[in-house]
Amino acid sequence: MSYQIAIDGPAGAGKSTIARKVAKQKGFIYVDTGAMYRAMAYYLLTKKVNPEDEHGIEENCKNADITICYEGGEQVVLLNGENVNGVIRREEVGNMASASSPNPKVRERLTLLQKELAKTNNVVMDGRDIGTCVLPDADVKVYLTASARVRAKRRFDELSEKGISCDIEQIEADIMKRDEQDMTRKVAPLKQAEDAVLVDSSNMSIDEVVGVILDLCEKCEKERDCRWK
Ligand code: C5P
Repeated sequence: MSYQIAIDGPAGAGKSTIARKVAKQKGFIYVDTGAMYRAMAYYLLTKKVNPEDEHGIEENCKNADITICYEGGEQVVLLNGENVNGVIRREEVGNMASASSPNPKVRERLTLLQKELAKTNNVVMDGRDIGTCVLPDADVKVYLTASARVRAKRRFDELSEKGISCDIEQIEADIMKRDEQDMTRKVAPLKQAEDAVLVDSSNMSIDEVVGVILDLCEKCEKERDCRWK
């Protein structure tokens, strides 16, 4: 039986940084499911599919073979065999991912792959629907959030550090639009699973959040009903 830690939450809540650290501490693999949706979105952008064209998304997604592998402990996303890690972080790819991820065909393909990964590996998996749909029996479930302003500021600092000029108001507006799209879609909307622990990281450091999650793991491991035992 594998050990599963699910971390869900809105864009920019710090899920990937935190999930990566927790995975390192536990010696588990980190699965960034957002990167898979981004790889699919990147493929659709290269095919010039309109984000509103549901039929176009459905037809084209069949031709995108997305897999992941690990290099030096880091997840590498392969799109039809090609490493796309370097191109999927752009804002337009994130926005297209949010527009195309409600498509049931897109979700079906990627959810299957995610479930398979968690069957054979101990995982820390982050995304929007991990605790609710992908790994409903996860040992530890966290819903990680922060205020929209704090999330926009973190993204702004990240881009500014890379020398990319950006506008914090625009970033905040994009984040709020993405939250709205992710929370209101019909299939696998972003929401806190009933048995997930809510963590608001607005006023917490990365290490504090990691500490909270490791404590939850310890508690789970001590309990008799931890699936993993
Ligand atoms: O987490 P990240 O910002 O990289 O995700 C990009 C988009 O992919 C999200 O806005 C969301 O629409 C979609 N996504 C999803 N389900 C997941 C992970 C990401 O729908 N499990």
